Amino acid sequence: MSTALTNELDDMSAHTLASQIKMPYTLTPGQATGIFIAELAQRRLIGSRHKDRILVPAQDFSGIDGEPASGFVEVAPVGSVTAFTTTAQGTFAHILIDGSSTPFVHRIIGIDAKDLSVGTRVEVIWANEASGTMMDLAGFGPIGASATFAPREAPADLSAALEQIDYSLTLDYQHAYGPYYGTLFDGVKSDRRVRGIKCSKCRRVLLPPRALCDVCFAPTAEWVDVAAVGTIQASSIVHIEFVGQRLKPPYVYAEIVLDGTSTRLIHMVGHVDPEEAKTLAAPGARVQAVWSDRRTGSLADIEYFELI
Ligand SMILES: [Zn+2]
Repeated sequence: MSTALTNELDDMSAHTLASQIKMPYTLTPGQATGIFIAELAQRRLIGSRHKDRILVPAQDFSGIDGEPASGFVEVAPVGSVTAFTTTAQGTFAHILIDGSSTPFVHRIIGIDAKDLSVGTRVEVIWANEASGTMMDLAGFGPIGASATFAPREAPADLSAALEQIDYSLTLDYQHAYGPYYGTLFDGVKSDRRVRGIKCSKCRRVLLPPRALCDVCFAPTAEWVDVAAVGTIQASSIVHIEFVGQRLKPPYVYAEIVLDGTSTRLIHMVGHVDPEEAKTLAAPGARVQAVWSDRRTGSLADIEYFELI
């Protein structure tokens, strides 16, 4: 490895991308849990009856024998702690609602963990505004004015089950490019310069660059500038919508070998009618990069490839 290359790699070793994965989805809670959550907005706790057992939150089926619930009951908004733990996000406890048979996990609010013990009496804390989620039950806090009562018949105006609940799972993460991708993306961002790396043994140029050749497993050594022009090896027309797409389907995706390289790069082919893509964006078609106005230091800096 040359000194110049070593220095370049050292410079790039801290190159990271801060990004986020968002996964919006809908949850179908089922009848019993759907009623339980809907009833939180009425500030009532609903359980289900399974022979001589009461489950809170209400469940459609017993976890013991798989038998369906025989009905719903209203239970008191008070219970006892049966176990608890503290985390960076706060204190969580198993709460056994009075008259129920199994505890469930929820947040403890307004009670210091050192004042908690197995058996501590707690009371529901309702959210200020109902959102149609489990968090309408904000947590459990110090026992207050609410009286306990034995499970009783569900109210006549029992809410209909929520059919679907919207959720969005969001994951923030930092991706460390490492020295090879870091060098490529840094060049792309600052100079619109595409660089591959040459295998020390078979002399193939690999793009994206990497430490080892994927054919002969020899270390790569020499950086090579390549033109953002190449040839389509394979293409596909994307018709299905999914989260994170930059273009609205249908659009063309292709495996492109840039001139002078030996590996395929996957990118979009823009400005081609999907109806004509089978012939125009077929293997052998020549394409060139169209650079984006944005400089992100990723392959998204190439907006798409266009036919030439
Ligand atoms: Zn090789």
